[in-house]
Formats: sequence, structure tokens, C-alpha cells
Amino acid sequence: MPSRRAVFLDRDGVINRDSPDFIKTPEEMILFPGAPQAIARLDAAGFAVIVVSNQSGLARGLITPQSLEAMHRKLQRAVEEAGGRLTGIYFCPHLPDAGCACRKPKTGMLEQAAREHGIALSESYMAGDKPDDIACGRAAGCRTILILSGQTRRYDPARFAAPPDLICPDLPAAAEQILRESEGAPGCLRADNA
Ligand SMILES: [Mg+2]
Ligand SMILES: [Zn+2]
Repeated sequence: MPSRRAVFLDRDGVINRDSPDFIKTPEEMILFPGAPQAIARLDAAGFAVIVVSNQSGLARGLITPQSLEAMHRKLQRAVEEAGGRLTGIYFCPHLPDAGCACRKPKTGMLEQAAREHGIALSESYMAGDKPDDIACGRAAGCRTILILSGQTRRYDPARFAAPPDLICPDLPAAAEQILRESEGAPGCLRADNA
């Protein structure tokens, strides 16, 4: 039986600033203050921290595979400088209407990561800034965290088929909450009284 716990993280709007024009180069990928440190804390606590990102800019020809790799090296390096590591980085390169199994809200990336790293999805978290991130995490059986530093600035229940389990202002607060929960204490706002 797989037993490792993971924290799955959406990338844009969670780890780095999002942009309506897509993040196309390492220079355009501006990490949020405290994000690499938050990932390092989760890693140190024993979680596999795994990025799961929709990157349709690849299929659109806006992002080259080389540029995406350079962005991921930049991210991994920042996490390593903070004393941690990302266990994996998964991305969907397809267009939204391609019908692939990997684009969130589909669960393909989480399932692949679970197979490759022995992850227990029901013991894991999925954090993201959009309804599709929450729907994906929920469908995979994870605990879900809505992060308000990206495209969603305020929780509006009408936009969510099902509410997130937790709502946190940013990734450092989400990491704090996850670490608190793994020690059994309360923290960030619960969605049912947001
Ligand atoms: Mg996002
Ligand atoms: Zn895909």
C-alpha cells in the first residue's frame, strides 16, 4: 500500500505570480516571497511536495519546452537554497479542449505522481488558486486548499462545485496550516465559515 503523504501544488498564482499573458520565461516567473521556504518546511516535515501545473502555453506555441525546463530548474534551485526539494514537477502541455487525462480538473497528474512516488492520495493535500484545482484535488480524494494569492482573491461559493476544505491567503499560510494539522491543532479559516 502506498503510504507517503504529498502536498500537491498548483504553480501559477500559488508559488509564483500569475499573469493573463502566460508565464513564458524564467524571467517572467517571479516567486512569491516565502514560497521556496514554505516548500522546504513541508519537505522537511516528510511530505512529498509535487507541482501539478496546466501549461497549455506549450500547445499554443507560447512556451518552449526548453523555457519550461529552465523555469523548473529556477524553481528547484530556489527550493534547494531554502534547504528543501521538490519531489516532482508534473505539467499538462495540452489545450483545454484536447480531452487529455492530465489537464486539471482531471486527476491524471496526481495519479501518475502517486504511482511514481508511492503517494497515498487520501492522506494528501492539493492546493491551488482556481476552482479546477479544488475540483481536481477533491476528485483525487485529497484534502483541498484554496489559495487566495492568484486568480481567486475572494472565495465565492457560486464558482465552486464543491467548497475547498480550507482557505489560506498564500502558500506560506497553507504550509503552516498543513503542519499544524499534522500536529492536530487548528489554524486557517475553514471554508464552511468563510
Ligand atoms: Mg494557478
Ligand atoms: Zn494534458
